[in-house]
Amino acid sequence: MDDRVQALAERFTRDAVVELVRDGLDLARASVGAGGQVPDVDALVHDVLNASSAWRTWPTPVINATGVVLHTNLGRAPLSDDAIASARAVAGSYTDLEYDLGVGRRGSRQAAIAGLVCQVTGAEAALVVNNNASAMLLGLMEFATGKQVIVSRGEAVEIGGGFRIPDVLRHSGAELVEVGTTNRTYVRDFEEAIADRTGAILAVHASNFRTVGFTHAPSIPELVELGRRRGVPVLHDLGSGCLLDTTEYGLAHEPMPQESLAAGVDLAFFSGDKLLGGPQSGIIAGTTEAVGRLARHPVARAVRTDKMSLAALASTLLHYLRGEATEKIPVWAMIAASREGIAERARAWCKEIGAGSDVIETRSTIGGGSLPGETLPSFALAIDPGQIAASALVGRLRSVATPVIARIENERVLLDPRTVPPTQDAALLAGLASAMRSD
Ligand SMILES: *Cc1c(COP(=O)(O)O)cnc(C)c1O
Repeated sequence: MDDRVQALAERFTRDAVVELVRDGLDLARASVGAGGQVPDVDALVHDVLNASSAWRTWPTPVINATGVVLHTNLGRAPLSDDAIASARAVAGSYTDLEYDLGVGRRGSRQAAIAGLVCQVTGAEAALVVNNNASAMLLGLMEFATGKQVIVSRGEAVEIGGGFRIPDVLRHSGAELVEVGTTNRTYVRDFEEAIADRTGAILAVHASNFRTVGFTHAPSIPELVELGRRRGVPVLHDLGSGCLLDTTEYGLAHEPMPQESLAAGVDLAFFSGDKLLGGPQSGIIAGTTEAVGRLARHPVARAVRTDKMSLAALASTLLHYLRGEATEKIPVWAMIAASREGIAERARAWCKEIGAGSDVIETRSTIGGGSLPGETLPSFALAIDPGQIAASALVGRLRSVATPVIARIENERVLLDPRTVPPTQDAALLAGLASAMRSD
């Protein structure tokens, strides 16, 4: 056997390596059959090694220098130190996940986390599931299967990744009743659509686009008033679980679960890994009656969350309870970062890189289906790629030891310190040095 293949067979099972070699030979045979050249052993070994490069742990950390705080492709919110520590602590251990230590019997997977959610949102009851998409699916299956759901035409949206409100409604066995027009919908449009078969009124935060100009949408309190008067539950998909007031950071107002629940919606749905800044999870908060119905639905079991996510979410929610969210939760620390602090870091990077680099003013965005069109003033290290194209330099940056994701503007490569935790500075600079080495 070739030494390199032998070495591979020592790291992985012989069977797995034999299978790769067989696949390589099959491909070569097929290529020869189609009139191709007979490959030499070296080429075959190369193919085998190439195929085996997929045998690695994944996902791996990357450096997000894009300035997009919640980058969906990069896994949304990075966790706080406390959240990481608690997820890690339970990962390799038995836990009291479903065990009541007080009485020594089976306990609830939801009670503790629901208590925290209720505390920070003011809800009566709560349920945590796998993500907000499954939260919505569960809510609609319980409230809308075989019934009609009234949605404003301007809110029958696609959230991303093919997740479309009309499709989710259909798959949960509900009939979508669209009311109003794309730009203007009034509470009377909802009222006129209420019928015997109405299961719910659904409000969806149009989180990834903005309608501007001649627009109108009923407020949540107006919908709640209507729902109460006509005996129709009101469900609100907020998208992001934004528990802090974004206007304090120079951003537009992002709807908050607390406001929605105070207004009296039956159920509010939101993500745990957008502006909440925690792990992937979907949070359902609302009345004891409505949340109880969802908890008893058979699909609740199919969308439940694992212990590591629950531990990380509990730690994240505790940051809000301790009033330390902007210091401890990375996405909020990034949003709250001072311009001067960002400029200083960009200048420090620039000093390390030297010639061909500059510090420029730029804008960071929130991303992740939150605050569309809203930006924060920022600074970036701008690199003139010199001999190579900017696209070639960002490509090289993606292939360094800890991949660096950057953006291109005006043929320059921009790196925004806002989304790079200082702990990654050394890796970023090493990556830059290696990518810019002329070879
Ligand atoms: C992001 C989003 C969802 C989906 O949430 P996930 O946690 O990604 O499943 C649903 N609705 C809205 C309005 C969103 O912005």
